[in-house]
Amino acid sequence: MVEERTRLHQRRDGGTSEAKKEERETTLQLWQRKWENTQEVAQWKKIGKSIDDNCIYCGKRDTVEHTVLDCKRWQAERSQLKSQVGKEMQSVTNMINLMVEHSGIWKEVHRYIRDVMSKKEKETRQRN
Ligand SMILES: [Zn+2]
Repeated sequence: MVEERTRLHQRRDGGTSEAKKEERETTLQLWQRKWENTQEVAQWKKIGKSIDDNCIYCGKRDTVEHTVLDCKRWQAERSQLKSQVGKEMQSVTNMINLMVEHSGIWKEVHRYIRDVMSKKEKETRQRN
């Protein structure tokens, strides 16, 4: 967020809403990259591959989005997250938007993902 403001100051048109919108897009892209590069997600993808790209719980195609937002296995964890942040995550983009705007949400989502990740890894190992 600090970086976003710095970039805005460096632009001559930094005060316009168009410029703000553009910088927000850049921030999102940076976050997305950061997100994809985290060790956890990399590990997660590896787990996904080792189980033939299908979710071990429901058989649907296993993606980060499926696990985080869709899979029934994590319904309890997800509703706990929802009550903590007071909002429902509708898509990964929506989630990143909220995380960028509120550092409190970033922490809660991160905790949720770590929780789901470690359980999933353990349960995947037990099955194999
Ligand atoms: Zn599933």
